[in-house]
Amino acid sequence: MTLSEAAALLEKNKSPMRKDGSQFTKIVATVGPACSSPEMLLELIEAGVDIFRLNFSHGSHADHLQVIERIHAINQEHKLHIGILADLQGPKLRVGKIKDNALHLAEGDIITITNDEKAEGTQDNIYMSYDQFAEDCEVGERILMDDGKLIFEVVETNKKDRVCLKALHAGILSSNKGVNLPDTNVKLPALTEKDKEDLDFIITQDVNWIALSFVRKAADLDPVKEALEKANHQAKVMAKIEKPEAIKNLREIIRASNGIMVARGDLGVEMPIEQLPMTQKDIIHMCMQYARPVIVATQMMDSMIQNPSPTRAEVTDVANAVLDGADAVMLSGETSVGKYPKLVIQYMSKIIKEAEKQYWPQIINRRPIPAPQFMLYHSDVICFSACNVAESIGAKGIVGHTSSGYTAFKISSFRPKSQIFIFSDNHTKLGAFNLLWGVQCFYYNRFTTTDETIQDCTDILKESGFVKAGDTIINTGSMPMGRRLPTNMLKVTHVE
Ligand code: PEP
Repeated sequence: MTLSEAAALLEKNKSPMRKDGSQFTKIVATVGPACSSPEMLLELIEAGVDIFRLNFSHGSHADHLQVIERIHAINQEHKLHIGILADLQGPKLRVGKIKDNALHLAEGDIITITNDEKAEGTQDNIYMSYDQFAEDCEVGERILMDDGKLIFEVVETNKKDRVCLKALHAGILSSNKGVNLPDTNVKLPALTEKDKEDLDFIITQDVNWIALSFVRKAADLDPVKEALEKANHQAKVMAKIEKPEAIKNLREIIRASNGIMVARGDLGVEMPIEQLPMTQKDIIHMCMQYARPVIVATQMMDSMIQNPSPTRAEVTDVANAVLDGADAVMLSGETSVGKYPKLVIQYMSKIIKEAEKQYWPQIINRRPIPAPQFMLYHSDVICFSACNVAESIGAKGIVGHTSSGYTAFKISSFRPKSQIFIFSDNHTKLGAFNLLWGVQCFYYNRFTTTDETIQDCTDILKESGFVKAGDTIINTGSMPMGRRLPTNMLKVTHVE
């Protein structure tokens, strides 16, 4: 490498704003009016955000475009790999307008749901955004509205356009409230017309993750994957788990996706809420087995939308998500519309660091690799061994090179006791890897000998302050270097 090439590579990776590597669990923050200015986005990154989520249930394409451009500008200026997660709304159901915006319901009251968009919103004429509802529902099924605050039972359906519901748990129904159908076999397509328009926009943009809401089975992800493939877009695909049906099909959904979100908002309404904590643990556990990053989302620090400090229960919830082994914890209203977006990230970061002090005995995910039944078995064994060797010798970090991301996902899934330094020549993918537990991302675009690559990476890590003379690192990679083979090499390097 010429001196100027080397200087350029070092320069591309040197940023005073990089995290210091003392926090392994990542933070995802939803962008909204409270934090979308360039100054606030930067402040949130300084406070600890790794990925920004754009919620396509709200905002126009112009709003999202502005935020995307701002995040890219920050990444470029500060040489960071802060990722962008575009979250598609999916088939979210809502009631229409309610007359005077309030319908007072008592237990036992009967309301009628229609598929007439012009319904006036009175007790016997309420629109719901699901045209075939009358056809698909059955007498006896439960219908939940407004985050489960109101509960109804189907008492009659004409199987065409009208359904009568009896209020089991009453209250006030107002316009546009969400509807959940935990018992109904919802036959709506996974991707709505709105999602298709949003996806058309998203694939013109350099985002790192695309999440689909209300996934029910693995095939629901196909249209998103096909659109990405057609556009030769590098974004990774995330499935949001928020339906009991998705829990039944969890293994196939995890295998079909690149990442998972435990979307506790809707999941907590659709399933008995007392089952949520164990379901969260089960999902995280299975994600680690399949090397898929997993985000725990919703109401983690909800009270901080209004208050300058979290409740004891919220602090404990975040810490428990860390101990469960989540790759990332997510904030929604706390950062998008809350009063204290920066403070909430600072609290979250402190809670994560504290929980991680007690972390490894509880979470380590290094069961032996299954029998050599598939072609990446050798690569898996190298990644697995790298984590064990790093632990045995107290290595400062494990270095991985990846084009597909396989090595990054795999090493991270074993939850090693040292940092994971991932080098890639693809900025979009680096932004995606930034979600992975313990992973620090670096840009590297030389295809040279193994020895030179190891030296370059060590220099980059030294220059950016992640290692110093006297430290030991574990290098993984593939030899011969230029052939982009799966990871097949492991080396112990003493930093000089
Ligand atoms: C959730 O339901 O927890 C969630 C994250 O989804 P959304 O915010 O899109 O409702």
